[in-house]
Amino acid sequence: MADKQVHSINPATGDVIETFAPLTGAGIESALAKAEDRFRSWRRVPLDERAALMNGAAEVLEAKLELYARDITLEMGKPITQAEAEVKKCAAACRHYAAHAGAYMRDETVQTEAHRAFVRHLPIGPVLAVMPWNFPFWQVFRFAAPALMAGNVGLLKHASNVWRSALNIEDVFRSAGFPEGCFQTLLIGASDVEGVIRDARVKAVTLTGSGPAGRSVAAIAGDSLKPSLLELGGSDAFIVMPSADLDKAVKTAVTARIQNSGQSCIAGKRFFVHADIHDAFTERYVTAFGALKVGDPMKKDTDVGPLATLKIRDELADQVDRSLKGGATRLTRERIVPGKGAWYAPAILAEAHSGTPSADEEMFGPVANLWKVPSLDDAIARANRSVFGLGSVLFSNEESEIDQAVRELEAGATFINSMVASDPRLPFGGIKESGYGRELAADGLRAFMNRKTVSIA
Ligand code: NAP
Repeated sequence: MADKQVHSINPATGDVIETFAPLTGAGIESALAKAEDRFRSWRRVPLDERAALMNGAAEVLEAKLELYARDITLEMGKPITQAEAEVKKCAAACRHYAAHAGAYMRDETVQTEAHRAFVRHLPIGPVLAVMPWNFPFWQVFRFAAPALMAGNVGLLKHASNVWRSALNIEDVFRSAGFPEGCFQTLLIGASDVEGVIRDARVKAVTLTGSGPAGRSVAAIAGDSLKPSLLELGGSDAFIVMPSADLDKAVKTAVTARIQNSGQSCIAGKRFFVHADIHDAFTERYVTAFGALKVGDPMKKDTDVGPLATLKIRDELADQVDRSLKGGATRLTRERIVPGKGAWYAPAILAEAHSGTPSADEEMFGPVANLWKVPSLDDAIARANRSVFGLGSVLFSNEESEIDQAVRELEAGATFINSMVASDPRLPFGGIKESGYGRELAADGLRAFMNRKTVSIA
């Protein structure tokens, strides 16, 4: 059982912000008992009452937006404007599920020889969510809003560097008036996750995070015969063809790569640009990267803050070094970043060879990898060489190219002429080593529901 103190460290300065004591075994037991007990009554609460509480959660998020956003930025370093946008997006997700959960889980009538036959969606019980630090609020709300509207109850094991945010999320549901036990934050480390998954009171697990964590959680869930959903890493392709609006493509390629200081699973990470426009695109892209404001994430005009931890920064620096040694070229100039803290200056690498991190691995920071390609066929072939399959982007105004990209890009999503973004109205998830299952929209709500077949003779 973990008993070591856990620190939140401001990645911009390296200072310890807050120290937490992880839950003891007795604390975990009490939370699981409370979750099971609450589920029995929560599943019977009428949908309109659940919806009113969920709308109340949206109001709490908006009322305490500044506080929550500040804590997000202090703990993991994203620019404050993006932290505020994240909290607002959570409020929108709560309202979306408050409004649409009823339709998403409506009975589905089926004509058979029976008097009546239909499929009914029923909750299954306490669900464990193992979540990452990169969108400390959004990743949790996109699980919690549909789960609670479905009649399940939520248990959160958040990443160990964002426990203030984890407690703030529990505060949202408590302040909105959700009955105690509907949503609980468990301050536990990764080593305690196995015991929680195996506990008979926990009925399913969802994890957003890295491949190694996903494999471990899926193996334990499989061994316990419990459903799991995995949202893992990505190395999304971003393809630009000659018919594209070049200004828009460059602008979008910058945001797609550097938003959240480059630490987004659905960031464009590998850019394949057609030879006819490659030089014009590259010149503008390099200029735009050079103009990015890197600095204090608390300032409203900052584009790129520090990475979330020193370990993440060091891993990225190592990936870049290995890619350069392996034959890639750095297109951006070196620039000075603050010495203390987890800083890494945005960079663009070109023509990395396969077998190097730029081509083969996920780079979780503000580093874009660029290749010149002779055709869409070539771009798609290279895009699909990745072990990941989360999102993908094509910039083109040719219908035949759009059709081909939609059919052939191996990814959970293809966005045309815009960057990949999650949206409560659209299913979200990956294929290949990016995971399985879908969050958001109706899929996200039904992910952990019993689709019960009912036949009345
Ligand atoms: P991570 O190390 O896998 O951590 C994610 C969560 O899993 C944390 O709560 C972590 O707890 C826990 N964890 C780690 N190892 C575990 C294990 N063996 N068993 C059980 N739990 C374990 O991932 P990260 O570095 O924080 O997040 C970045 C990764 O998440 C990237 O690969 C990114 O692409 C991916 N991601 C995917 C999506 C998506 O929707 N597909 C969205 C966001 C991020 P501790 O912090 O206590 O170790």
